[in-house]
Amino acid sequence: MIGSIFYSKKFNLHRPSEYHPENPKRLEIVLSKVRELGLEERIEEPNPVEETFVEKIHDRDYINFVKEAVEKGITRLDPDTYVSPGTWSAALLALGAARSAALSALHYGGLHMALVRPPGHHAGRRGRAMGAPTLGFCIFNNAASAVVTLKEEGVGKVVVIDFDAHHGNGTQEIFWNDPDVIHIDLHERDIYPGSGDVSEVGGSNAYGSKINLPMPHYSGDGDYIYVWDEIVLPIVEEVKPKVIVISAGFDGFKGDGLTTLRLTESFYSYAGATLNKYPLAFILEGGYGVGLDKGFPAFIMGYEEGKAKAREEPRYETLKLAEEVKDILSPWWSL
Ligand SMILES: [Zn+2]
Repeated sequence: MIGSIFYSKKFNLHRPSEYHPENPKRLEIVLSKVRELGLEERIEEPNPVEETFVEKIHDRDYINFVKEAVEKGITRLDPDTYVSPGTWSAALLALGAARSAALSALHYGGLHMALVRPPGHHAGRRGRAMGAPTLGFCIFNNAASAVVTLKEEGVGKVVVIDFDAHHGNGTQEIFWNDPDVIHIDLHERDIYPGSGDVSEVGGSNAYGSKINLPMPHYSGDGDYIYVWDEIVLPIVEEVKPKVIVISAGFDGFKGDGLTTLRLTESFYSYAGATLNKYPLAFILEGGYGVGLDKGFPAFIMGYEEGKAKAREEPRYETLKLAEEVKDILSPWWSL
């Protein structure tokens, strides 16, 4: 069941002053797909969160840093990450959309989406996270807004699955010591932000709650579907979460431009199909072209139809990775 879609034109008030891959065109692509799928009537205007809510996710100093940068008319927070006069209101609205998607998924079941900009998963508690050189286009952590909301509703353990091509270092860092937030992250290894090694399993109160799958360069559907079946789904089934938060990035799609990954509709459709017995709070992260055009609708259709198609074989490096991760996780998970 496809539920609510939280989207606002105001997200596009966050806009770069010169060419940047993270720009308003991204949501135009996403919106055209929503229309093609006949889902336009599901769109709801989100409400922004209060500034006090942001403090549940980020330190006051970082919130002030963003606010003051916008007020002073600064155009860049770092070499990757721009701000514009509309950034502050767009960022609060994105947090609100993620919060609403989480509440809707919890109360109604099905797939509820926050189709937002700016993206969020690289934003840590104090901004740059886990040694990352920049904020990686992100301002506030939208997935964390969904997680905090679900925890306040008393759902017990929350599972976050981040399949954006880059490691969700911000989300991992914010919940590093929280054993009730199971963060599973598939990403291309050895690219920005540099974190996401298999050895990163959570802080001392939360060992085993952070699961990293640093995929080999040029990984394709066979590689992703293999680790999905061997590691992601068994963990999800062990936890049986009331809601899953998806940090949904489509930049791993072949030709999307920022990585070497070669995913196609098959993986995204498979991911959607195999999660379709769970309510999902879907939070848009990256994806800059063909990934949004093809990967995004494939995930939605996969979830709606629930038909997981036959898989390709994984490569040897991926088999080795899966073996290593199972070994590392063996004290906490029966994989
Ligand atoms: Zn990304």
